[in-house]
Amino acid sequence: MFAARGRSLRLRMALWSTMTLAVLFAIYAACVFVFLRESLLVEFDHELRDHLMFEAQMLERTETGIRIGGAARESETREGLPLWVRVRNLDGVLLDARPRTGPPAGVRWASGRYAVGDRTVVVEVAKSEDPMRRRLWQLFVVMGTLSPLALTGAGVAGFVLAGRALAPVARMAARAQVITAERLHERLPIENPADELGQLATVFNDTLARLERSFETLRRFTADASHELRTPLTAMRSVGEVALHEARDASTYREVIGSMLEEGNRLTRLVDCLLVLTRGDGGDVPLRRESVSLAELVRDVAGQFGVLAEEKQQILAVEADGPVEVWADPLVLRRAVINLIDNAINYTPNGGHVFVRAFENQLQSVLEVVDTGPGIPEAHRERIFDRFYRIDGARSRNRGGLGLGLSIARWAAEANGGQVDLFHSSESGSTFRIVLANPGRVC
Ligand code: ADP
Repeated sequence: MFAARGRSLRLRMALWSTMTLAVLFAIYAACVFVFLRESLLVEFDHELRDHLMFEAQMLERTETGIRIGGAARESETREGLPLWVRVRNLDGVLLDARPRTGPPAGVRWASGRYAVGDRTVVVEVAKSEDPMRRRLWQLFVVMGTLSPLALTGAGVAGFVLAGRALAPVARMAARAQVITAERLHERLPIENPADELGQLATVFNDTLARLERSFETLRRFTADASHELRTPLTAMRSVGEVALHEARDASTYREVIGSMLEEGNRLTRLVDCLLVLTRGDGGDVPLRRESVSLAELVRDVAGQFGVLAEEKQQILAVEADGPVEVWADPLVLRRAVINLIDNAINYTPNGGHVFVRAFENQLQSVLEVVDTGPGIPEAHRERIFDRFYRIDGARSRNRGGLGLGLSIARWAAEANGGQVDLFHSSESGSTFRIVLANPGRVC
């Protein structure tokens, strides 16, 4: 299929170049023809004028009138061709003619008035245009014979050259055909990175590299998600199987059902988080951005977490410089704030502090969540925003962590045109920061 297209493109390129050449050649030939004809005519007329002057000088007076001089001389041109000479009076009456017979068709005339003694006569000379026509015809024949040959040669050369120019396309197509989802590491050959095909191949290779990365992320995400989904399902099944193995009392069954519900809740949370992230990836979450008071939003979320902080005897404090307006979707932004405060409370030991601060400067609004937890070791700081990444998997899982909180926070901040990062971390605590544009700065 591609080969056929390649050939037809090649043929089309050759045909187009030949046609363009044919048109240019026709214009060139027409110009040469017209120019040569004009200059031959000028030369011809010039010669006729010379003959006219000569014949006028040769006029002789007779008793009866005026006659063409040179006795029995037959006038002729330099090339030895016949020259027709006529003398008329001013009334147009023919006084003399040589030769007596009139010229055939296809001669060109020149005339002028001349004084012979006291009389004024009109002298006319004519000579055949045949030699000039013959030269033009020869030119026409030469061009007419050579141009089809030249155009055929140009067409063949165009076809061959187009084939050579398109050869890398065929090689690229052959390589592209073996690139499948499993072989995304393959790349197109780049013969000359500077030419158009090289640039096309470079762009295509960049796209392949991005696709490869996306596929890899997707593959890892699917594998991690399956693993995360399997863990609670396995726990539920084994708890159920053990309970059914022999008769138990009511309190044991209640405990088993409670444990299964806990796993069920975990599954529900996990599926909710996965849905949020996949919808976010696909851009399916419609954002309703408006002017939101970050201070109010943070106080509201902190209010929700008050009980949790109290249970851990932690101090949860909020401080804000005024309303701190941001241009964001309040529901989506809320997810980011919830996840940061939830983590801070979760990972900070009992009796610790969680301090949430909202402030703004001329350019941006900032939300800081500061805790007195264990901090995040240097080696993990780069990866904590990755999906399902946990520093201490088992401990985090026991605390109910899904490894998706920071990924969701990042998506939520970025969807609102902001960003979230780990601003500071040490053994005495961490500071996460959300930075958003002020409403006035949003274009
Ligand atoms: P999880 O659901 O496990 O909390 P997250 O994506 O929210 O997943 O966080 C990823 C990892 O980053 C967590 O497993 C935890 O080890 C670490 N982490 C996140 N926030 C904090 C924090 N405030 N203090 C210490 N470690 C944290």
